[in-house]
Amino acid sequence: MRRIFPQIEQLRIELAFGDTRGLPPSPQVHTLYPAAAAFFRFACPYADCDGDFDLTDVVVALAKGGVLTSRGQLFCDGTRRDRLPGHAACSIRLDYRLTSG
Ligand SMILES: [Zn+2]
Repeated sequence: MRRIFPQIEQLRIELAFGDTRGLPPSPQVHTLYPAAAAFFRFACPYADCDGDFDLTDVVVALAKGGVLTSRGQLFCDGTRRDRLPGHAACSIRLDYRLTSG
């Protein structure tokens, strides 16, 4: 990550989830350091879902723009294998907030 984003010393990634069909999973906080691999995919919090959220573009935009925070929403496009066919689309909402320092 240092090689790709030399201006970022630490990156805090806050993930909150929203699900219109039930209680959403717990929020997550990840702190990444330059020594860590530049890997910004986070698995969907539902264990039976095959989806993930790719924040790579968001991190790249943050680094290039020289801004300190970035927030937005993504929706999971994965499939829940424990659900009935036809109702298996996950579509959980992710509210992300990235803070660099
Ligand atoms: Zn999912």
